Amino acid sequence: MRSDISLVTVPQGEQQRRVRRKEINRQQLLLRPVEVEKLVDLDHPVRAIWELVGRLNLEPFYVEVESVEGVAGRPVWDPRLLISLWLYAYKDGVSSAREIARLCEYHPAYQWLTGLEVVNYHTLADFRIRHKEALDQLFIGVLGVLSHEGLITLQRVMHDGTKVKAWASDKSFHRKATLQDHLRLAREQVEQMGDPESEELSQRVAKARQRALREKQQRLVEALRELEQIEASRSKASEKEKARASSTDPEARIMLQAKGAYGPAYNVQISTDAQSKIIVGVGVTQASTDAAELEPAVERIEANMGDGPEQMVVDAGLTNQATMEAMTEKQVDLIGALPERRGIAVDRLKQRGVSSEFYPQVFEYDESADCYRCPVGKVLGYETQERQGATLRRRYRAKASDCRVCEFQLQCCPGTRRGRSLVRSEATPEIVAFQAKMETSEAQAIYKQRAGVAEFPNAWIKDKIGLRQFRLRGLAKVTLESLWACLTYNICQWIRLCWKPRRLAQA
Ligand code: SF4
Repeated sequence: MRSDISLVTVPQGEQQRRVRRKEINRQQLLLRPVEVEKLVDLDHPVRAIWELVGRLNLEPFYVEVESVEGVAGRPVWDPRLLISLWLYAYKDGVSSAREIARLCEYHPAYQWLTGLEVVNYHTLADFRIRHKEALDQLFIGVLGVLSHEGLITLQRVMHDGTKVKAWASDKSFHRKATLQDHLRLAREQVEQMGDPESEELSQRVAKARQRALREKQQRLVEALRELEQIEASRSKASEKEKARASSTDPEARIMLQAKGAYGPAYNVQISTDAQSKIIVGVGVTQASTDAAELEPAVERIEANMGDGPEQMVVDAGLTNQATMEAMTEKQVDLIGALPERRGIAVDRLKQRGVSSEFYPQVFEYDESADCYRCPVGKVLGYETQERQGATLRRRYRAKASDCRVCEFQLQCCPGTRRGRSLVRSEATPEIVAFQAKMETSEAQAIYKQRAGVAEFPNAWIKDKIGLRQFRLRGLAKVTLESLWACLTYNICQWIRLCWKPRRLAQA
């Protein structure tokens, strides 16, 4: 009997049967021929990525390479390979260098790329963060290809911001006193560190511990520096006291995220050309709102494309006076929604104990004198004004001497020694013109396209690439991570819209 067959006795009625069973042999050694070229089909996307990267100028990636002819040392991995590996991995939702190294051992697409070699994860991790300028140039190079294919026109660009969780946890955010305590402790630990050469532990472990402690100390120093910036951005002393910074990712900020939850995040700004939903600009900011992000977004598009957009379409979070002025100066047509007008702040008046008979609507505005008259005929003169979002808020105030002796003071302005004040919200001429434009059916039809275009890449990057949380820390590194993700997104659109149809036509 053959050695890979065994017999098993099973009862059948009053008799027994001897069944022949095939055995699994896991002790054997096999040598299999592998035809690397046939590991993936001809229309496999990994071929498209390799082809496109090969068409781009990769010279900037070679600048820092030290392995050159005539100098001792091992040759380096081809940047074309490392770029292709990262792009293909991101496309598959893999953003870990260790995971890519593992995939190189058995996954046909990765094996095809590397020619069955395995790339060390340190090499992959270093490559992802080392070439900021070269990666910017690569992004621009891909935009050039997409533009040449007719996928970008810049006639209409939709812009949106999306919050991506930082690697830091909520618990890593501390106030100044706690950060200072942690820093003191870390410094003491660093000072007490012995010589790694004399450690009982292996030198490698001792050096790793030293490095970790120094990095911790450095991050705490940075956290205190960031805390100063956060405090400086707050006007009220009580808010400054509450300021916190992360001890593990000092540049992350607490932001309002999806579903109304607050947490450590960065704000990723993405500009998408409406023609074929190609990303033409990406940036990352620490700002918790998008209010000031449109002008930098347009400048990024200009830098990437060598030309600016004709029209920008944005949501209410980006429509404000400053944005309108900036777009007018750049001769960019702005389409967007205005923030909803707030009604009279009745709740606040109630809280202050103001009686409903003295709410703002009973005060009469005199346009010729630009003042209000209160129910007893006293004048509330113009005091000051400020811009808030899309409106100009003008404050008027009665004389303290009038209110102090007024029989209605307790109902009208309780608890204040100054005279009664009220705020008149006015739309500026730019806002009035913008409102008129947005009332046209043409502008409304354009605005309706916004969500479908602007939110598509955001959702794609989060769902397909899995960029719901950054793997890296610090503004510079998360910007690189966003750039890799957007580059992958654009290449996937090129594969879908250009490369695949051409392959099908050739087949
Ligand atoms: S408290 Fe001042 S503002 Fe109010 S009704 Fe009297 S005088 Fe007018």
